[in-house]
Amino acid sequence: MMKALTYLKPGLIRYQSVAKPKLLKSTDIIGKTLLTTVCGSDLHFWEGAIPETNELAEKNGSRGIVLGHEGIVRVEQVGSDVKKFKPGDVCIVSCITPCGTCWYCKNGCEAHCIGNDGTSGIILGHEIDGMHAEYVRVPFADNCMYKCPEGVPLDSLLMLSDIFPTSYELGVLDGRVKEGSSVAIIGMGPVGLAALLSAKVLKPDTIIAIDLDDTRLAVAKKLGATYTINPKNTDPVDFVMKLPTKDGRGPGVDTAIECAGSPVTFKMCQDMIATNGTIANVGIQTKPSRLDIERLWFMNVKITMGVVNASSTSQLLKQVVAGELDPSPLITHHFKLSEAEKAYELFRDSANSHAIKVVLTNE
Ligand SMILES: [Zn+2]
Ligand SMILES: [Zn+2]
Repeated sequence: MMKALTYLKPGLIRYQSVAKPKLLKSTDIIGKTLLTTVCGSDLHFWEGAIPETNELAEKNGSRGIVLGHEGIVRVEQVGSDVKKFKPGDVCIVSCITPCGTCWYCKNGCEAHCIGNDGTSGIILGHEIDGMHAEYVRVPFADNCMYKCPEGVPLDSLLMLSDIFPTSYELGVLDGRVKEGSSVAIIGMGPVGLAALLSAKVLKPDTIIAIDLDDTRLAVAKKLGATYTINPKNTDPVDFVMKLPTKDGRGPGVDTAIECAGSPVTFKMCQDMIATNGTIANVGIQTKPSRLDIERLWFMNVKITMGVVNASSTSQLLKQVVAGELDPSPLITHHFKLSEAEKAYELFRDSANSHAIKVVLTNE
């Protein structure tokens, strides 16, 4: 047996004993979890917003399903077809576990892998037991694990499971951030702050951080935002549209990265984007939004969105090793794995606790 944080039904999570995972397929590994962290999406699971997880949890009764899709593991057992890893290796586990052979995997859309034991590429802590446990079964290990390099704290590497690939691929790369450009980031939660750090590596001229929480804005400022705007005090669109422009260009930002996931913030992006700019929607949108296509069409605006493919992890790892990217300022709290329930409470109450990333250690 082992201990794990399980989801039982909407509003109910429990740290309890469950059976230790076993190898089920030749491409699996079993790892001892060293570190794991709570994600904004784990809060959605907790409140019962994910139908397939609710269904599984209900089927499992009081056993529930183990949550968590971000972690660092030490490999304990490997399946016979695992080529890249051996027992003892310490690895980052990506939130996406792609089969590598289906149409989606072969076409750079691992998020929608159909070769997994689930409905997409993201099944850990969603459709199979996840990382908030003493041990975890990782499917398709060769396609979703990365050996931890020496000399970089594991806490920092843990941030490459999800928030950095998410913010980098969907925000910075899809948003076409480049040297000398201007970037607005709306929503300075963990993913927005990660977007700020990974955008900075590409040396844009201006980064405007927008959030309703002054504490988060102070963090953004410390991490290198050129301007921080709280819409309670300053109209962000008005502020952006009045910034000086270069090269005879019209007003607006080259890239608007939406990390809040609401119709209001998506509209804000549409209202502050420059001609030929890109709106990169990272935030999970759960309600319909209005699209001002009659205006944006004439501006050659690009709009991107979607679920992370986690195909940039090696590239991010190189940036971290080279010292260009340091994820560590996003880690605000540490707990033992056995305190997982407390960690969830604190993370949910981030307005008061000011939690950004909460690291759980399996001692
Ligand atoms: Zn996550
Ligand atoms: Zn696949």
